[in-house]
Amino acid sequence: MQDTLPNPLNDVEVARLRADFPILGRSINGAPLTYLDSGATSQKPSCVYEAEQHFYENFNAAVHRGAHSLAVEATDIFEQARTTVAEFIGAKDNEVVWTSNATEALNLVTYSFGNASAGLGGDAAKRFALGVGDEIVVTELEHHANLIPWQQLAQRTGATLKYIPVDESGALRMDLAGDIITPATRILAFTHVSNVLGTVNDVAALVALARNVGALTVLDGCQSVPHLPVDVKSLDVDFMAFSGHKMLGPTGIGGLYGRAELLDAMPPFLTGGSMITSVSMESAQFLPSPMRFEAGTQRISQVHGLATAVSYLREVGMERIAGWEEYLGERMLTGLSSIDGVRVLGPGLGAARIGTAPFIIEGVHPHDVGQFLDSRGVAVRVGHHCAQPLHRALGVVSSTRASTYLYNTTSDIDALLNAVADVRGYFG
Ligand code: PLP
Repeated sequence: MQDTLPNPLNDVEVARLRADFPILGRSINGAPLTYLDSGATSQKPSCVYEAEQHFYENFNAAVHRGAHSLAVEATDIFEQARTTVAEFIGAKDNEVVWTSNATEALNLVTYSFGNASAGLGGDAAKRFALGVGDEIVVTELEHHANLIPWQQLAQRTGATLKYIPVDESGALRMDLAGDIITPATRILAFTHVSNVLGTVNDVAALVALARNVGALTVLDGCQSVPHLPVDVKSLDVDFMAFSGHKMLGPTGIGGLYGRAELLDAMPPFLTGGSMITSVSMESAQFLPSPMRFEAGTQRISQVHGLATAVSYLREVGMERIAGWEEYLGERMLTGLSSIDGVRVLGPGLGAARIGTAPFIIEGVHPHDVGQFLDSRGVAVRVGHHCAQPLHRALGVVSSTRASTYLYNTTSDIDALLNAVADVRGYFG
């Protein structure tokens, strides 16, 4: 794919980008750090934390209250960040709600269902009634963050939770999706990209099935927004959750995209200050979205840091990032598959994938693999990656996952492959 892109990323250019990430210059256990755990959290360019520091040194004040100049400037920065992030995902300003991470964003959505008494009104509100006979559909690929909140919702409302399974390779059984999604389906919640396998789901086909039966769609964009160009309007989803820390931004900040008319029909998730129009001793009236979901003093510097991260990503170019990671991913998958005793999980090379490679090594526990790789400076994730059902479907308990980002080089992949090649010899 690299060659087909105008001005694709390459090792020389990535080496320049790496200078923006001081942590990548570290050594670990006497070896240069090879960071291949961006699926868990990404590293941050210095402009992100410098932006936060600049905010504290010059603009720190609580937003949306107070008439003094600092408060006005801080509010401008906060709302400008919303515009930047909204544009990045193709949404309108009032369609992006700040949350602490994707997990909170998904919990916010699930909370809206079956809570009609909390102040809903209008036609759109009817879409959030849920009870016995209604169905929620997820997939077997989900991260626990996009599974457990739906389990809880089903238990709370009496709705039935169903799922689209994967085949033995981990590919989603799209051939079954049409039968699993029925006229009783009210919600289809699914991940855009699997955090374990890195595979990209066919959003258009799944959304079409949901639309056909009038179901709402909730996309987990945690692993797609950082790595691929994502436009919520062309994907045509109703909601999408994402996390700032996986896309070069700070921890503690994430977001929920929701169609404006749906967000305005939803009850607040957290209640308190900054989200009301008027309050009596008996009741309260709430602001429209997004502020009705942003109770309490907000994460202003983190929001500013996230907007700075998004500007950085845009400057590099999401198409170029996706192309580079596809190249690194292929190199990683091909290399791992050719090492004796290594089983790469997931469908073969033809499947659409970001630069993520999950694997197991015959006879060696993933935790031992992780520790051995760490002794060579290679940072990967081991365990079930918050996706126990998927691991079970693949017939394993845990795995090792290497995941790339825009700052990884061909040499990083070679360092991984060389270290993996030595694992069995060491534990032999
Ligand atoms: N969904 C997916 C696909 C993820 O990969 C993750 C994090 O790994 C999450 C949801 C949860 O993200 P967070 O922990 O930032 O809320």
